[in-house]
Amino acid sequence: MSTFPYRNIVIAGGGTAGWMTGAAFSKLLGKEVNVTLIEADDIPTVGVGEATIPSLHVFHDLLKINESEFMKATGATFKLGIQFENWLEKNTSYLHSFGYLGKGCWAAGFQHFWLRGKRVGISEEIGDYCVEHLACRTSRFATAPGQPRNYAYHLDATKYAVFLKKMALANGLHHISEKITGVNLSKTDGAIASVSLSDNRTVSGDLFIDCTGFRGLLIEQALHTGYEDWGHWLPMNSAVVAQTALSDTCTVPYTRAIAHDAGWRWKIPLQTRAGNGMVYCDKFFSDDDAKTTFTEMLSSTPVTTPRILKFKTGTRRKHWNKNCIAIGLSSGFIEPLESTSIHLIQQSIIRLLQLIPTSENFTHNQALFNQRMRFETENIRDFIVLHYHATQREDTEFWRYCKRMEIPDSLQRRMALFNSSGHVYKQDEELFGEDSWLQVMLGQGLYPDSYHPIADSMPESELASFLGSIHAHVKRQVNQFPHHTDFIDQYAKSES
Ligand SMILES: Cc1cc2nc3c(=O)[nH]c(=O)nc-3n(C[C@H](O)[C@H](O)[C@H](O)COP(=O)(O)OP(=O)(O)OC[C@H]3O[C@@H](n4cnc5c(N)ncnc54)[C@H](O)[C@@H]3O)c2cc1C
Repeated sequence: MSTFPYRNIVIAGGGTAGWMTGAAFSKLLGKEVNVTLIEADDIPTVGVGEATIPSLHVFHDLLKINESEFMKATGATFKLGIQFENWLEKNTSYLHSFGYLGKGCWAAGFQHFWLRGKRVGISEEIGDYCVEHLACRTSRFATAPGQPRNYAYHLDATKYAVFLKKMALANGLHHISEKITGVNLSKTDGAIASVSLSDNRTVSGDLFIDCTGFRGLLIEQALHTGYEDWGHWLPMNSAVVAQTALSDTCTVPYTRAIAHDAGWRWKIPLQTRAGNGMVYCDKFFSDDDAKTTFTEMLSSTPVTTPRILKFKTGTRRKHWNKNCIAIGLSSGFIEPLESTSIHLIQQSIIRLLQLIPTSENFTHNQALFNQRMRFETENIRDFIVLHYHATQREDTEFWRYCKRMEIPDSLQRRMALFNSSGHVYKQDEELFGEDSWLQVMLGQGLYPDSYHPIADSMPESELASFLGSIHAHVKRQVNQFPHHTDFIDQYAKSES
């Protein structure tokens, strides 16, 4: 084992964040560090967080997780995107799929050619040029070695934690089932020296990873790091959630995000049940009204009692403070639209593994970690704000607020660039790429005034055959895919 100074790692909390961190540290650095995870059996996990995005493949590849074993263990289904219903206007819908749209060139993205085609009346809808988009609409799915993995999963969060726990224990993680009753700070530098447990034991460590959820037991309650509230941009602060039986024999390969009068609700199909939730802002919709409306709207029998969760959108001022790193809900929460929390968990884990301090002074590691997490979190925030702000809905006080609210300058600039010239871009390590911005901007009713002149340099007949051949290729490919449910049945059918 190495002798570097931070090799006793203590993880507080055993939700998705705790077990993802525990599984990764024990698997990837377990020979060099001692990993202890402490979780209180009587403090429940948040128990939601069942929709993921394709970046999860990076995490699973690092941990050498076998896809069909993971899917069987977690009752997972495939997810090719999100269908947004009633966001632009009531009774409208659009898809944000994870696939690539058409084919661009060095000067301009595909949308410029598509926009010209629209102007002359030869373009189909933008999603007709994307395999994953069409596969969503026809409930088909296939994956093959060598193909881009532009898909994610819907998974059972509780079973996912159990799956990762088994892996972590097999890799030598030390697990303690006790409540943390105190956090003891060093008198010299105010860093965390140890935590006290309900059985009177004390666990000391070099680095403490706070995975205690919204309460932020270490990062906030002990270190008072501070929280930046984004409620003025992201007003959601409550959710009512319940699991239901599956209503259909076939599961769709996408999440449904259905806007309502003061927020939205989701439906996530797993192999043996569905996850449901209604997200709302309690300034515009009372908890009682939310519970009643949610229950009335459930399309199948609840298998759990609806429960209410409260949260504050925003970010911890520093994700890494002193010798404590907040991962998961303890580091902040943007909100569940676009399912980015698990992604941020894995990003924190991978960055921490990369930047693990190798000498006493970790100031620069910490600064880089905080700067990168901040950058990524703010970019995701902008993408989510776009969904609320770029709406034509004015039918309720909530939607009028969203339409008229001030938005971050960074988002304002992106929207103006797209409206004026059709350009979208991905900045540095930002999560969402051009195709994501494009689908959501178009879906939310933004439409560029012009396009790049290179699209005009193609004769119209050539443009027609270019667009037509992409469309035909997409249709051909999707037609070969089996039905999503049939694919799962033969590839990764859950045992329970
Ligand atoms: C309404 C809603 C919907 C969401 N949907 C999605 C989604 O679709 N996709 C997505 O990626 N994310 C989603 N998320 C976020 C996702 O649920 C979380 O990122 C994920 O579950 C991680 O939570 P966590 O592990 O940080 O916290 P928690 O699940 O709250 O776990 C906290 C852990 O800390 C332990 N603990 C707390 N206090 C103590 C103590 N004193 N001593 C010992 N242990 C303690 C608890 O026992 C528990 O094990 C959603 C969140 C909400 C609120």
